[in-house]
Amino acid sequence: VRLREFLDRRAPMVPAPTSSTLVVLAGPTAVGKGTVSTYIRENHPEVCLSISATTRAPRPGEVDGVSYYFIDDAEFDRMVEAGEFLEWAVVHNHSRYGTPRAPIEAALAEGRSVLLEIDIQGARQVKASEPSAVLVFLLPPTWDELVRRLIGRGTESAEEQERRLRTARVELAAQGEFDHRVVNTDVQTAAAEVVELMNASGAGTPVAASYRTKEN
Ligand code: 5GP
Repeated sequence: VRLREFLDRRAPMVPAPTSSTLVVLAGPTAVGKGTVSTYIRENHPEVCLSISATTRAPRPGEVDGVSYYFIDDAEFDRMVEAGEFLEWAVVHNHSRYGTPRAPIEAALAEGRSVLLEIDIQGARQVKASEPSAVLVFLLPPTWDELVRRLIGRGTESAEEQERRLRTARVELAAQGEFDHRVVNTDVQTAAAEVVELMNASGAGTPVAASYRTKEN
């Protein structure tokens, strides 16, 4: 009996099994996915942020192997052929982007949570191949705010802005396919909610704090 009591007392000290979660953060253009994921990378080193490969040219200040792996079409073709992508897609009608599979599998095997910041086509592919993946949709506070952010950052031509806004309308309509929605009013709060979801998902909690309704 005393041994039993001893073991029972010890039980809470046994570490809980580590639960690694694969989380996809998607959402329309200029909603702030990049800013939120950069904030998470800088403030939550326990989260592994996937680095995508892309055929688009680097923008000023982007570093190969940090923002993306910048590769050419031939290398992208080779990786597709070899099955080295977890998902890949043509985004905004020109360049290809893909998530290298190996680093993600390694991080998950180590019990780390992994965050993918990818587009909606990619999010769907990840869910199809990994049904346990958690899909998070980042929303702008309002449509007007989304337009303001896109024009304000000034990185696209007027024509490209128009094309991205057309895509954004279609993408917003897909938010119901996602497991959770987070409104990006300010980066710090949105990032905290995404991290909370990563932790909560492993423990089986289904709904982001920001989207709990009065009923639940
Ligand atoms: P940008 O060229 O502005 O860095 O990114 C354009 C879009 O590509 C963003 O919507 C971003 O989420 C998406 N993207 C970045 N990496 C990947 C990826 O690996 N796979 C997919 N499907 N989309 C990606």
